[in-house]
Amino acid sequence: MQPLKIKLNGQKSLYIKWDDGSESEIALKRLRELCPCATCIAERENRSKTYIPLMLSNQVEIANIEQVGTYAIQLTWKDGHNTGIYEYPFLKNLAEEKT
Ligand SMILES: [Zn+2]
Repeated sequence: MQPLKIKLNGQKSLYIKWDDGSESEIALKRLRELCPCATCIAERENRSKTYIPLMLSNQVEIANIEQVGTYAIQLTWKDGHNTGIYEYPFLKNLAEEKT
């Protein structure tokens, strides 16, 4: 599955049109919360049950999107965080989760 088109919707969500004709839209806040980089995964695992996510606006806005090979995109957030590599199947699943 490959994206034909990736577009930011006004710093609110990421829109992806896939090569099978389907479309995904994922809130940027959710993308940041689920950042797949090692640092963020470790941080999430170490959180207490009473953790309340507090996101600054520069943490949920995207400065740059870059393609990584043919399997993922790398998001650079406005706070400079850019180690998250979002693989296409991950993005597709995320968009289809009913939350
Ligand atoms: Zn991260």
